[in-house]
Amino acid sequence: MSEITRRDFINGTLMAAGSSMLPLEASGQAAMAALDPSYYPPALTGLRGSHPGSNDHAHSRAWDGRSDWGPTSRLSETYDLVVVGGGLSGLSAAYFYRQKHGRDKKILILDNHDDFGGHAKRNEHTIDGITRISYGGSQTIVEPKHATEIVLDLLQDIGVDLGRFETAYDTGFFKRHNLGGVTYFNKEVFGEDKVVQHPYCNYPNYVEGILGGKLSHEEAAQQAPVSDRGKEQLLRVLNGGLHTLDVPEAELQDYINTHSYFDYLKNNLGVDDPGVLRMARHSGLDWASSGTEMLSIAAARSCGALGFEPAAVYDEDNPYIHHFPDGNAGVARALVKNLIPGVAGGDNAEELVMARFDYTELDKPGQAARIRLNSTVINVEHGGSPVNSSDVFVNYINDNQQYQVKAKAVVMACYNMIIPHIVSGLPEEQAAALKLQGKSPLQYTTVGLRNWRAMKELGIGVAMSPGNMHQAVLMDFPVSMGGYQYARTPDDPCVLQLICCPYGEVGAPTADQFREARYRMLSLQFDDYEREIRRHLSGMLPDELFDFDRDVASISVNRWAHGYTTGGPGDSTRVGRQPFGRITIANADSAPGADAKTAMMMAHRAVNEL
Ligand SMILES: Cc1cc2nc3c(=O)[nH]c(=O)nc-3n(C[C@H](O)[C@H](O)[C@H](O)COP(=O)(O)OP(=O)(O)OC[C@H]3O[C@@H](n4cnc5c(N)ncnc54)[C@H](O)[C@@H]3O)c2cc1C
Repeated sequence: MSEITRRDFINGTLMAAGSSMLPLEASGQAAMAALDPSYYPPALTGLRGSHPGSNDHAHSRAWDGRSDWGPTSRLSETYDLVVVGGGLSGLSAAYFYRQKHGRDKKILILDNHDDFGGHAKRNEHTIDGITRISYGGSQTIVEPKHATEIVLDLLQDIGVDLGRFETAYDTGFFKRHNLGGVTYFNKEVFGEDKVVQHPYCNYPNYVEGILGGKLSHEEAAQQAPVSDRGKEQLLRVLNGGLHTLDVPEAELQDYINTHSYFDYLKNNLGVDDPGVLRMARHSGLDWASSGTEMLSIAAARSCGALGFEPAAVYDEDNPYIHHFPDGNAGVARALVKNLIPGVAGGDNAEELVMARFDYTELDKPGQAARIRLNSTVINVEHGGSPVNSSDVFVNYINDNQQYQVKAKAVVMACYNMIIPHIVSGLPEEQAAALKLQGKSPLQYTTVGLRNWRAMKELGIGVAMSPGNMHQAVLMDFPVSMGGYQYARTPDDPCVLQLICCPYGEVGAPTADQFREARYRMLSLQFDDYEREIRRHLSGMLPDELFDFDRDVASISVNRWAHGYTTGGPGDSTRVGRQPFGRITIANADSAPGADAKTAMMMAHRAVNEL
């Protein structure tokens, strides 16, 4: 049995080593921890995303109200701006601040993770000596032609050439290899392991160039491993749609906005087969954030849930091709390079694709912009009254030590729901509104495969998997740029992307489902995920072409307990994001909008509000 490289990294063992720190003296005091020259988090595998340890301090602050963090090292560092959170919003806030006030302004970005970028996370898999680049979260620049001038100017300034994706993304790839949307039914839930050449929903169609289902509705319903009654019901759903509703045209929109998708399935189409209902529940995935039983007919239709006709997901001007090999981490890296030119060579974002960033450059004394990783902010407080104070003190934990820096202004670009726990003195109404901001849990698992012959044999571009933890398996996007070549032939090593939108108990309110799913996600160990992925891929792919121990080289499970922003009820998001003295609030949460462009716009607003 071949050795799986990520075994060494199980549950963060290597992460701890990777983040080993060297003491650094600054201004005569042990100020912080510097990173070891070998530090390169994108190459880590195992449990990634919000990796073990990253949220511990924030959780003990928010859940247990911890306030005693031991002695504080008060650093002699004073900044024009401190940014809390090093995701796309935080990095953009630093960018906009310098644009407005000058490149010499002193800025510190603090983030609790071992890497910058937040959700925009780069995953590298080295498979038999070949490095495959992939993404652990924020995937693609969505609909850039709908971006504001502010975002387009930022992208251009940091060297992102949107036109370049028109040739970098190989739109003919899926057709050449006959790869389409299929469905894998697993034995545990559906009684047999079976791949049917039909996705039964619109989910796969956002992948530009992917082929549709290769079966008619009749064939697809017949081949689904559900009861005979279930097959009839499934066919009714596939042939269904709004025309089956007995509602006058003038009232239709209002009707579908206010009536439940599951009621429509059960009452209008007579669906009661548990297999069909399960397929329906898991057909919206991250378009829906929750199981589709929580959706109206209109929402289910717009996210292409089971039974709604395949439709273009994006308009013709905005195909889903604006994808760096490392997803929006490519944008995050270009922002970091703009702020701290010494991290890598290269003149534009494309030239950074293959660059191994030098993380020791991130936090050098004397440079104008600094990024301090592994640093959880646990208190942000004005030096006096928020109305006329000239300073803000920011306390953070790095390597279990508490430090304090001083700033003239602070942008909170972190998860908005943590803000009331760490910003002292917020007005009660604002604090209450911030506590209501929601996020759905999400998991993007990347699997390094030695070859993809089995995927090719079954024609899998995207495999919907309604019985499994990961409800969709995707071939990586066919993007070559900056000297990087995607896996062109089935004999090449490649990365599979496994997407999991975890839900809670059917029927429970969405927020409760998120909470339940989040705790379940965090309670699992790497071995649990590995077992599930082994069962999934081994059940789906033919034995003669796929052997898990032989063919899987590495696994990165990117868990985002705080994933897509879902905002809060009523007016709470707007109330929550109000400026407070010298502190303003950014992050995609403050729109709310689970989108990179929005994260940037929120940064722009927060900087202007200072
Ligand atoms: C799996 C996944 C896929 C996505 N795909 C897409 C996509 O394809 N396209 C798209 O446009 N958007 C996508 N998104 C949405 C994504 O949220 C945005 O694109 C964007 O990355 C959000 O950036 P942000 O800076 O607002 O938030 P984040 O990326 O969450 O950054 C906030 C940072 O602040 C840190 N932080 C929180 N609390 C503290 C603290 N107390 N101290 C220090 N640091 C703290 C967080 O840990 C995090 O690193 C995706 C999101 C997820 C989870």
